[in-house]
Amino acid sequence: MKRAYNFNAGPSALPLPVLQRAQEELLNFQNTGMSVMELSHRSKEYDAVHNKAKQLLRKLMNIPDTHDVLFLQGGASLQFSMVPMNLLPREKVGNYVLTGVWSEKALKEAKKVGQTHIAASSKEANYTYIPSLDQIQLSERAAYLHITSNNTIFGTQWHEFPNLPVDLIADMSSDILSREVNIEQFALIYAGAQKNLGPSGVTVVIVRNDLLEHVPENLPTMLDYRTYSSSNSLYNTPPTFAIYMLSLVLEWVEEQGGVKMIEKRNKEKASVVYEAIDASAGFYSPHAEKGSRSFMNVTFTLPNEEITKKFLAEAKEQGFVGLAGHRSVGGCRASIYNAVPYEACEALAEFMKQFQKRFA
Ligand SMILES: *Cc1c(COP(=O)(O)O)cnc(C)c1O
Repeated sequence: MKRAYNFNAGPSALPLPVLQRAQEELLNFQNTGMSVMELSHRSKEYDAVHNKAKQLLRKLMNIPDTHDVLFLQGGASLQFSMVPMNLLPREKVGNYVLTGVWSEKALKEAKKVGQTHIAASSKEANYTYIPSLDQIQLSERAAYLHITSNNTIFGTQWHEFPNLPVDLIADMSSDILSREVNIEQFALIYAGAQKNLGPSGVTVVIVRNDLLEHVPENLPTMLDYRTYSSSNSLYNTPPTFAIYMLSLVLEWVEEQGGVKMIEKRNKEKASVVYEAIDASAGFYSPHAEKGSRSFMNVTFTLPNEEITKKFLAEAKEQGFVGLAGHRSVGGCRASIYNAVPYEACEALAEFMKQFQKRFA
């Protein structure tokens, strides 16, 4: 069996041992005579899976008791709406830093709910950088400050978070669990699972408990964070198989030595690819400014459209998958999430060097 060098932006690579374990357990989960997918979500076997996922995430991310962990559906995209519905009262202003397509989408949904303000933006530079902390200008009566911690499409990442007198909210869909983060700095964090946490289908929300005291009373039940926090995310049927896969991914992260070790490896992985770019004398041109480079999504362009096509076609032949860039940036993007092995990044860097020799 040959596994691809999977650089997909999301859904993306899962750790091989996780897939193998799911395969082993698929037909008969813990002697129940059925798959996890077939278990009642009220059974003690599923309950154990559910709570294990929650507890492991708490442990690995060092989540303090002040914060709750919720499992939802609807992806990060539903959080673009749920955040303002729950946390943006009429008299206050939702503050947004625009660093890419996903933060634009978050702002667009917030506008439908209430007042908003753009606290900083790098749109004028086609999102090649993360605004510096002193560029952030909060509005009056700010309800919260929303950021996108890693910009999946443009390949930029916050390396230091704003420490302002306002509740900080982060869309961490594409870098959650990739590096150590101080949860206490955040009022709320959300992430669709399909980049670093597991398959699509479950969305993780980490929320500081006191925020839930001010949620408006008239929200639809399924759009109200309190529904999830008061029921251990079991008000209705949760995405049981996705949460099971999440629990396996979290066990794998623990076996790797936790987030600290994952972070170290992620930096090594990103370094080999960025080194190939930096050593190419401009043949590969990085989209992100150096200080804003992402350790998760490496974006670069080649001299022209024709060479880019050739690069992608040859890469495909050699087993590299998912390297085409998003249309708003063009060129190429290597998404190197937690489950992408170092060897895949090394192989890509080598391929880039060989390709350059022939076409530069
Ligand atoms: C992928 C992604 C999203 C969209 O996630 P869905 O789960 O598809 O809604 C939002 N924000 C960021 C930063 C992403 O990378």
